[in-house]
Amino acid sequence: MKLRITVLVEDTAGGRGLLAEHGLSFWIELGSRKILFDTGQGNVLAGNARQMNVHLEQAGAIIISHGHYDHTGGLSKTLCLNRQTRVYAHPAALTPKYARNTDGSAREIGIPFLDEQKIRGQADLILTEGPMDIGEGFHLTGPVPRRTNFEDVGGQYFTDPACLQPDALVDDQAVFIETPAGIVVILGCAHAGVINTLNYIRELTGNRRIHAVLGGMHLLTANPVRMNETVAGLHRIDARRLLPCHCTGFAAIARLWHEFPDRCALCPVGTVLDWNE
Ligand SMILES: [Zn+2]
Ligand SMILES: [Zn+2]
Repeated sequence: MKLRITVLVEDTAGGRGLLAEHGLSFWIELGSRKILFDTGQGNVLAGNARQMNVHLEQAGAIIISHGHYDHTGGLSKTLCLNRQTRVYAHPAALTPKYARNTDGSAREIGIPFLDEQKIRGQADLILTEGPMDIGEGFHLTGPVPRRTNFEDVGGQYFTDPACLQPDALVDDQAVFIETPAGIVVILGCAHAGVINTLNYIRELTGNRRIHAVLGGMHLLTANPVRMNETVAGLHRIDARRLLPCHCTGFAAIARLWHEFPDRCALCPVGTVLDWNE
């Protein structure tokens, strides 16, 4: 089945008329199905979609990787365009989220404009509390078990404005798609850890070959141990294509570029990836 992934929102843009913002959104076409994975912050999604001939109102499903604003900010506008869609999210994606600033103050970083009631008023909300097969080889991981000893959520995240309750980002989930070439994995921010996520997908698929990994790997704050272990894990997984972007971070992308010279590429807004089998 034909799979096409179009990068609608990313921290960089490459193409006439396309705009970047800190955030992520992919348009996934699998056979005749059209699925939106994340929605960016909402400032550039609609314009980039128009520029790339993507019709957001045709999305049969919207997947929310986790509740941070840079993945969910475009959801409310997208739901106004499209009243027939399904939204897939873990319940924790819809709860308040905060990050601690270096001076100790907090900033709100959860889903803007919406809560569970509002989403239910505009779409069919499906809560992903475990792995979910949504048909034609398209799967959601649901919450990812945290098993490695070198990965953490990658930042100072909390569920309360006083920053007393750490946010484990249990809502963090990835998508994986079965193709003849192997599994294509799409990450939001991989707050569960990219290696935890890929190991879990291997487990869920009975160790099927992982062909490609794209999305945010959240290695911005990775210490050398985490970085080395992540590189070793990626060598073991041996994917043919690595497309790190968004919150992966410049240093980590540079490292991956050197470690996987013919397999690693950037994926700015405007990138179109095709699997034609
Ligand atoms: Zn995030
Ligand atoms: Zn992010």
